Amino acid sequence: MILNSFDLKGKVALVTGCSTGLGQGMAVGLAQAGCDIIGVATSAPKDTGERITALGRRFLGLGADLGNIDCIPALMAQALAEFSHIDILVNNAGIIRREDAIAFSEKDWDDVMNVNIKSVFFLSQAVARQFKKQQSGGKIINIASMLSFQGGIRVPSYTASKSAVIGVTRLLANEWAQHKINVNAIAPGYMATNNTQQLRVDEERSKEILDRIPAGRWGLPDDLMGPVVFLASPASDYVNGYTLAVDGGWLAR
Ligand code: NAP
Repeated sequence: MILNSFDLKGKVALVTGCSTGLGQGMAVGLAQAGCDIIGVATSAPKDTGERITALGRRFLGLGADLGNIDCIPALMAQALAEFSHIDILVNNAGIIRREDAIAFSEKDWDDVMNVNIKSVFFLSQAVARQFKKQQSGGKIINIASMLSFQGGIRVPSYTASKSAVIGVTRLLANEWAQHKINVNAIAPGYMATNNTQQLRVDEERSKEILDRIPAGRWGLPDDLMGPVVFLASPASDYVNGYTLAVDGGWLAR
């Protein structure tokens, strides 16, 4: 029956950037659907772990700086020592730097590109190698943005990285579908998290944004639970290389 195909009992999901915000919402959603969770953030996420173990699921919290891909082999080793398999990867960790393009620094370029796209590619590669070894197939879900489709303003490295996320999602889907690995992305709209704090406290900018969202509200981490469970589950086995906007209608406007 169709609802059974959304059941993720026995699956292990690695979710990056799950100490707060959207990553925490998605990790909890996946755990509600049955997954055990490996949660990665700059320092091992605690609060998220408590919410997941309260659901009766296992949680392994790992601290790593995804701004440097040298951390990936150790992350994989620790994850596999605990769970012996991985079935789902959610590449959610991301940062943003705001500055006029005319004054934007190389550091703000590199820092954002390293976390938002370089580590997304190399962690996907490491996990896909594991999926191949397991001969299990697997699901990779990358977190894109409205700025994967639009230019934005004062966030050049963020726009570059999130535009690249969509392209790399398509490329990996093309190469790995033959191994039963689905690679898709979610493009959240304007969501109430730390990432958008600066926008939300700026009354004028906040009003401009809200006026354009057909749903009439900022999105919440819980709004990503359904979409991530769908893309992590057999219910989406024939969906590949696609980026699903979860934006209260922003892009339709
Ligand atoms: P957030 O509240 O700022 O959380 C970011 C998460 O990423 C935190 O768990 C953080 O962990 C982790 N992280 C940051 N740098 C890291 C690093 N170098 N190594 C490991 N982990 C790192 O952000 P959010 O709003 O939930 O955003 C999550 C994702 O959605 C990002 O990719 C973001 O670009 C994207 N997104 C957000 C929005 C929005 O409106 N909020 C819209 C579109 C897309 P620590 O706290 O331990 O550093």
